[in-house]
Amino acid sequence: MESIGLKTSARTEMQDISSQVVKAVKASGVGEGVCTVYVKHTTAGIFINENADPAVRADIAETLEKLVPWRAGYSHTEGNAAAHVKSVICGHSVAVPVSAGRLALGTWQGIFSAEFDGPRTREVVVAVVPAR
Ligand code: ZN
Repeated sequence: MESIGLKTSARTEMQDISSQVVKAVKASGVGEGVCTVYVKHTTAGIFINENADPAVRADIAETLEKLVPWRAGYSHTEGNAAAHVKSVICGHSVAVPVSAGRLALGTWQGIFSAEFDGPRTREVVVAVVPAR
């Protein structure tokens, strides 16, 4: 199991962590299996989407902001309820097949860590499980 430490610099931030995940897959030595990428926080998320045009991740962030405004009369008194809700919508992990020692991502796909309550320090865990 590998751990990826991230520093975020804004309240909302989508970081492409594909290269760090590729490194973790290589370090695992697994040829065939499944790579799980998991974020250990309640106001962050993990998703897979296009990593060619940065406007796509900006659109995702903006759309989530419209759906879940920062202030909307939430009950949670810490003041970051929107970040918790966005985290649930986004999800905390993705699973990607590993084939011939490589992530079987599509041409335009990248793996992203989503910050919803930054700036913070985040930990993403990568577990690569070999096929039998
Ligand atoms: Zn909170």
